[in-house]
Amino acid sequence: MDFEPVIGLEIHVELSTESKMFCGCRVKFGGEPNARCCPVCMAHPGALPVANEKAIEYLARIGLALNCSIPERSIFHRKNYFYPDLPKGYQISQYDRPFAVDGRLEIVVDDEQLTVGIERVHMEEDTAKNIHAGGGGRIAGAVYSLIDFNRSGTPLVEIVTRPEIHSPQAARTFLNKLKNLLKYLDVSDCNMEEGSLRCDANVSVRPAGSSGLGVKTELKNMNSFKHLEKGLAMEIERQAQLIESGGQVVQQTVHFDFATGEVTPMRSKEFAHDYRYFPEPDLVPLAAGSDFVEKIRAAMPELPDARAARYVNDLGLPAYNSEVLTSSRELSDFFEATLAHFDDARMASNWIMGELLGYINAAGGDLASCRMAPAEMGKLLAMIRSGAVSNAVGKEVFAEMCKTGQTAGEIVAAKGLAQISDEPELAAIAGRVIASNPAQVEQFRAGKERVLGFFVGQVMKETKGRANPQAVNRILKEKLAG
Ligand code: ADP
Ligand code: ZN
Ligand code: MG
Repeated sequence: MDFEPVIGLEIHVELSTESKMFCGCRVKFGGEPNARCCPVCMAHPGALPVANEKAIEYLARIGLALNCSIPERSIFHRKNYFYPDLPKGYQISQYDRPFAVDGRLEIVVDDEQLTVGIERVHMEEDTAKNIHAGGGGRIAGAVYSLIDFNRSGTPLVEIVTRPEIHSPQAARTFLNKLKNLLKYLDVSDCNMEEGSLRCDANVSVRPAGSSGLGVKTELKNMNSFKHLEKGLAMEIERQAQLIESGGQVVQQTVHFDFATGEVTPMRSKEFAHDYRYFPEPDLVPLAAGSDFVEKIRAAMPELPDARAARYVNDLGLPAYNSEVLTSSRELSDFFEATLAHFDDARMASNWIMGELLGYINAAGGDLASCRMAPAEMGKLLAMIRSGAVSNAVGKEVFAEMCKTGQTAGEIVAAKGLAQISDEPELAAIAGRVIASNPAQVEQFRAGKERVLGFFVGQVMKETKGRANPQAVNRILKEKLAG
């Protein structure tokens, strides 16, 4: 039987606000344990929460960017469960009256445009962090556990998609696009290794062509794009085999071990009624009136599509270049920073798309693997444009700058790469080349003009590519014309 996967993602985003969601403690990753906590985020009796306005603004930005509608009123709920990293015995979250609902995000997979519905975007708080010691870092096998409350109460936004993603690749593309969008919104550093962006993937399979929903399982905390895609593929395979052999999928959480590529069932999944949700009595409702929403909308940072349109309309770039440049916030920021030092947008975009992306891909990393500063790239482009270095040498210098972080000036000086435009020097070299190749001179004079290319090549060889090509062409023609 042919199966179609059905995937819905739940994404948690830690906001990069100065302070926590319900108290004034600082939000920051790492550092000395239990140094940034207070009676509120440690759940001392009688301590009362106050909502962080900035966090609500960030939440609204996210809701608007995902094309959600924002109800005039939403409320906080208590989600009750016990875990050592949850000192109150409940998490303040939102339940049936979330902040934003019914949005969508468009993605492109294999040249096909797909729309993924966003069910809801809501506000909650992060838990503290358990550190399991004396085992492999997981609770199973640990000898004891420590708790760090620094993270407790960090503003956390949850984004829940509809079950409208139908391949592991599409799930990865969606998460990537969402991450990029969040970066443009300036609401989170989205650092997956540090847990600022975490993704739970719900997945089921159904007979291809049918429209019902199968029983789903949940892959928790997929902490990289690769894990998400691989884990989903493994789990889809497991479910399909289970059903084909007459078994049934059980609703549960499954653990994906990236090292072994195995998926193992963990625990039966809890249902909403297990949490005994009830309205949080210590917090007033969130009244997101149209004034508030319009204020946020007006102050929204420029999003990727708007940036791409600006590149086309104001900078005259082709649509394709604009799309590539804005496909990551870092790349488009880099491009714009380069333009602050070099005014030919077309040339800058070509070098970024050709040489910079080429370097990054070969290095197998992201923009952080490039040590060249945008201002320095601008200076190099200016040198290439003025003819101070040739195009070919420029590429060599570019790669070196990416690798070492040295400036173009330093590299050109150290390696003696400056372009030779000095007429007498080029004339002398051209004269030598002509003198030592009489046969080709004969051919040229007999009307075989293509032979000019041979001479140009010889001069380039002598100068290791540093000769100014226009000057060389002209000088050779003059000399050969005799
Ligand atoms: P739960 O109550 O188990 O958390 P929800 O209805 O809140 O389930 O949905 C959680 C996530 O699971 C959402 O992203 C949703 O799109 C997805 N989901 C729901 N049902 C299915 C299904 N049958 N197969 C795959 N994903 C699903
Ligand atoms: Zn606190
Ligand atoms: Mg749910």
